[in-house]
Parts: sequence; structure tokens; C-alpha cells
Amino acid sequence: MTNLSRRTFLKASATVVAAGSVPAYFGFSEFKKAATEESVKKVPTFCHGCTSYCGIIAHVKNERVWKVEGHPIHLKSSGRICARSHGMAAYLYSKDRVTGPMKRVGEGKFEPISWNQAFKEIGEKLDSIVKQYTGNSVLWLEHGTHRKSYVDRLFDTIGSPNFTTQYSTCFNAKTNAWLQMTGTSLNGDHKNAKYMIFEGRNFAGGIIPNGMNHITHAKENGAKLIVIDPRFSEIAKIADEWIPIKPGTDLAFRLAMANVLISENLYNKTFVQQFVDGFSEFKRMNMGYSPEWAEPITGVNADKIREIARDFAKYAPQAFIEPGWHGLHSHYVNSTQTSQMGIILNALVGNFYEKGGLMPSASLQMGHLDLPAIENMPEKGARIDGAGVTGKYRTVEPSRGIAHITPLLVQQGLAKAVFICNYNPLRTAPDPEEQKKIKDAELVVSINIDWNETSYYAADYILPEHYYLERLEHPQAVSGHISHDNPQLALRQPVIKPMYDTKNTLDMLKGIADAMGHKDLYPFTIEQEVEAAIAPLGITFEQLKKAGTLEFPATVKPGFPIKKGKPALPTLTGKIQFSADLFKIDGKLGIPVWVPPLVEPDPKNDHEFRLIHGKQPWHSHAMTTNIEQLMKLSEKYQGTFMWLNASRARKLGIKTGDTVTVRSNIAKKKVQVKVTELLHPEAAWLPSTYGGFSPKNRTANGIGVNFNDFIPIMVDPLSGSTMAQEVVVTVAKEGN
Ligand code: SF4
Repeated sequence: MTNLSRRTFLKASATVVAAGSVPAYFGFSEFKKAATEESVKKVPTFCHGCTSYCGIIAHVKNERVWKVEGHPIHLKSSGRICARSHGMAAYLYSKDRVTGPMKRVGEGKFEPISWNQAFKEIGEKLDSIVKQYTGNSVLWLEHGTHRKSYVDRLFDTIGSPNFTTQYSTCFNAKTNAWLQMTGTSLNGDHKNAKYMIFEGRNFAGGIIPNGMNHITHAKENGAKLIVIDPRFSEIAKIADEWIPIKPGTDLAFRLAMANVLISENLYNKTFVQQFVDGFSEFKRMNMGYSPEWAEPITGVNADKIREIARDFAKYAPQAFIEPGWHGLHSHYVNSTQTSQMGIILNALVGNFYEKGGLMPSASLQMGHLDLPAIENMPEKGARIDGAGVTGKYRTVEPSRGIAHITPLLVQQGLAKAVFICNYNPLRTAPDPEEQKKIKDAELVVSINIDWNETSYYAADYILPEHYYLERLEHPQAVSGHISHDNPQLALRQPVIKPMYDTKNTLDMLKGIADAMGHKDLYPFTIEQEVEAAIAPLGITFEQLKKAGTLEFPATVKPGFPIKKGKPALPTLTGKIQFSADLFKIDGKLGIPVWVPPLVEPDPKNDHEFRLIHGKQPWHSHAMTTNIEQLMKLSEKYQGTFMWLNASRARKLGIKTGDTVTVRSNIAKKKVQVKVTELLHPEAAWLPSTYGGFSPKNRTANGIGVNFNDFIPIMVDPLSGSTMAQEVVVTVAKEGN
């Protein structure tokens, strides 16, 4: 890693700025002069550093972003932002941004191409693929669902059902369980809680800034926080108790907690009677899962399991098991059942729609453009990844799909054209060598702002999007992670003009559709879309632009949804379904039972570990690793090191700072080690961030290793997830 002095950083930034034809600063004195003499324009927008999408206010002078701060009223930030947000703002001036559309002309070789020529070539190629193989051979991979409505118009026109998010590598098991069992999703009401269980969840690592505020507020009022995690994570630092559970056994812990609640009559009978379907089957099937049964599996003392279950019931309904996110929910073969048990435990203590328990996100009824229907819409076939009731993976939600098997679909000849937008499967999905085979599709287009691994190794064309500080987007109802009674609306808007020859994705889709002969498929602008979205809300575009985030009167009230005197969740019975219909496979009842992890390290082999991973507070997976300022933090805090338990490391003669070789069935890599008491002995823990291998992303390239290097492509049959912690590695000191 290069040393980056303040002066060098300013010079590097100045060069880029000059190239972008905006005011240039060639040294500290000019920087200082401009800083003191120019007035500051403050433009509200929201951050793109992770899925919290915190509201921020950008300070702009001379068309240059000088700093960002937290938006004071935005639900997620409430005036505070994390280090990643500052790094993301600085990345605007990165030397590794793609400054205009590029076309591959050889291995690692690209040439600039005009937008019109790129649209013409991509449109003609896509048209010929659709004619030859049908629209079902076209796949769109994306980080989230923000651009889905745009993609849908093109995909409806060509007949492709294959819009796919990266959720199979993240939290599919959780969302699937919530969808099937409740038809909705709820968040912890942290600030009013008296007892919180965070299991495989880390608000201080995968940061939710205001969520941490809420938790500390609750703790100041006497709330207890229990953290169950094989690693002493960042949030464990403020916990009343840290339980270092054996990785992969959270399901057993949860089954045993339920057993205590039922066998000791601690569950909320009135709530269960009124709002739960399938309790008696669950009770019958849960009978054998006592804390004594769970103790040897989880490594957690039976009395401790009992104590936690009793406390959970005692503080309910102002108590909850945090619904979770990535941790636990794409990791194991039993992740879906673990998610189901989270819902069941919360329901058993009757905390649904209760203050201090689980509450819904406040929602907003937004408007939309009345667009002309698509004529002669071709019939869509089944998804090529098998997600959906008619597919191989019938329980996987088809609106999300299974992103990480894309190279297999390419090899099978099912995916001929692959669009990858704001997503980097070559680094963030299992087995990068396999992921590289995405390049064998007849057409690969990467829409991204820098030279990530997917663009560099797989893309035929790279189409650079405006950076998040340069673009306008459809307004976003703020939701998720933490509860909030008042709906909020946030706008992402340009804080400076685009620095380079970039576009927004809507204009890219327009260009490609036009080149295919589908004229006027997108007869609107984003401005018109915003106007239509806010029309029912009684606000103006100008008001929203000025405020960035607007709050509306409260819509959320405690109380289970009831219609005509009956429970009214969007499930078959209107109740919480302990036995989810879609999970009834192979004669099973769809009720969670114990499923052991797929693989186990051999306890007699001192070299074998289960490889687990997690976030660091200053990086969001691979997305932020090319940011120089954040990488300096990694360097300072041994951020790239793999954690090993002290007693296990001692046996292998390993000390902090030693380099070890880590091997799985598919990879062998070297990494430095941090030796610690704060990790379960069975686990080796890697930060989920590093291992960049794109030569053109110069800061991230060659730094550290990544857990995905070691995992083969696997699919959890229930959620479609990666099962990213079902891997055993051997660890040996260099030279051994
Ligand atoms: S948590 Fe940090 S990186 Fe994520 S959106 Fe908020 S400020 Fe940005």
C-alpha cells in the first residue's frame, strides 16, 4: 500500500479535478484559500456507503465537495455518519474512476467508445441474442432493487424474467422466512426496549448509526443487551453479556430457548391463541430440544440458555431477538430454519407490533407515472436460475433470484447476455475463479463507477454511472433496520455537476432500447418521475430538494393488524404461520427442526477451522476497499488480519503478525494473523472486505484475502443463499 500524505492526496485530487474541467487546486495554499474565501453551499442528499442510505448534507465550495455530515432528521443518521461516508465522498475524486464508456479490446485492455457507439453495439448484440435464444437468456444482476422499475420495462419488452439482486449472498434466508411466515417484516424498536438479543448481528460493525444511538439510549434507561456471536464483535463491546456460541449452531440455541418458553409456560398464551397458526405442531416437534440437548451442540451452558429464555419472557413485550441481516442469514444450511426460529421466539413472547418489541416501518403511499403499456409483450418463461415455485428452487423468492450461480448459467448456455449494475460478483460472490467465467457470455455489460474486478475481467463494455453525489434518483421512503413511527422521504440529488462523461442508468437503458428499435420505451425523465412520486404527498419538488429528507405525520401505531375482527397479516390465515406452507417440502411440516451444519472441522486436527467472516466499521465489504483514506485505517488497525483463537494459535506456534497459509478445497492463500481470546476456538475469522484483484483499482489490489476465495459455489435449497460459512480450512504457519 502506498503512503498517502495529505499533500499527495490533494495533488492527486487536483489532477483528477483538472481533468474533469472543474476548478483545480494545485497545492495546499490554493486549497486553503478557497476553503476560507468561498461560501459554502449545503446540499442534502443520502449516502451510498451501505444499505443504511443515511441522510447526509454535502458542503460544496467552488463545485467541489469539501465534506459531508449527517442529516439531522434522517432516521438512519440523525446527524451522525460513519467513517465510510467520508471515504465515499472522497472517492468522488478517485484516480480509479471510469471516466467514460469503455470497450474491451483484449485481456485487461479497453478503449474509450462514445456513448452512441456503445448503445448501438450493445443494442444490436442484445437484439440478436434475444432473436436467437429468446429474452429468457438475458440476465440483470444488481445490488438492490432501486433500478428494477427501469429494467422491468426493457425486460417486459424482450420477455426476460431474470432480474436478480445480490441478496443470495446476503440475507435471503431472513427475508424468505419473514415473507413466508408473516407476509411482512418488522424491525426492533430498540429505543423503547428493555431486553435485546443480537445474534449474529452487529449494528456497530455493519453500521446503523442511529440504531446505535437508540440502543445506547435504551441502555441508559436500564435495558439489557445480549450479544450471541462466535466473535466479540464491535457491538459486543457495549453488551451486558457476550455468548461466544459455536458457529453454525444458533438454530439449536433458538430451539432450546423455545423449549424453555413452552415447557415453563412462559410464552404469551393469549397472543399465541389469537395470532399464531401451527403452534400445536410446533410444540409437539419442539419437545426434545431441551437446553441440555443444546449444550453440547452450541457450547452454551444449559443454565445460561434457560436464564436468557426466562429474561426474554420476563421483559416481553419490551424484548426482542433482533430480526437480523447478513450475519446468520446466508451462512449455513440451517439459516432458513434459524430465521424461522427468530420469528417464532418473538411471536412466543407476543412482541409483534408492541413498543419496545417489533414494530413495522412507517410507510408512504407514493404516486407513479402513468406509463403506456408495453405492446405485444412476449410471454416470459421460468427464471433460468430456478428461483420461484415452478423452478428447481421453489422456495426462493423470484423477485430476488440467485445471483451467485450466474457463471454456472453461462456455462450451461442459459445466460447469453449479462448486465451487472452497481455489483461486483467477481469479488463479492463465492469462488472468484468460477465467477470469472461470466465473461464467457456473448455479451457482458458492467455499469459501475470504478474498475472493479467484474468490469476488469468480465465486461465487454463498461458503462460508468454518475457517482451518487452527481445524480438524481427516484425519492426513497426511509425504512428498515430500526423502527420509526413517522414516515420519511429522502431524495438523492446531485450536489455537484457530473465530473466526467458519465450517465444515469435510466439514460443508458433508453440508449440501449432505442438501438434495439424499441423507441419511446422510456418516455419520461427522472424529474418527471420524482414529481409523480411526490404528487399525493402534498409537497413540492423544491421543498424536497431543499430539505433532502422530509418527515410526515405518524402512521404507525402499536397493535396487531386486525380487519373485521380477525388477524390480518398477508398470510393464508392472517396469522403468523409457524408452519409456512412453502417450506413444506418432502413430506416435512415446514416447522423448524434441528439441521446440523453441512461441514465440521475435525476436532482432532489442530489445523482445521471453520472459516467465518464479518464486517469492519470502516469498510462495507469490497465496495469501499479502493478508498485510500479507509485503507489507511485498515493499515493502522491490522484490519486485513485473520483472527485466530489464542489457545488454538498457541498449539500451532502462531503469534500476531505471523503469516499463515489458509487452504480450502478450492484455494490456498497467505494472510497475516491476529491472535485473540475474543473468538470461538473452532473459528478462523476474516473481515469480509479485502482481497481486491483488479489491477486498475490500485488501492485495493493485492491487499489481504477474502472469505469468498475459499468457498465453492453452493446453494441453500430453501433460501438460495451461498452457505458462506459451510467451509473448513486448514491453517499452517509459513514454513510448516
Ligand atoms: S452507515 Fe455509514 S456508510 Fe452506511 S449509509 Fe450510513 S453513513 Fe453511509
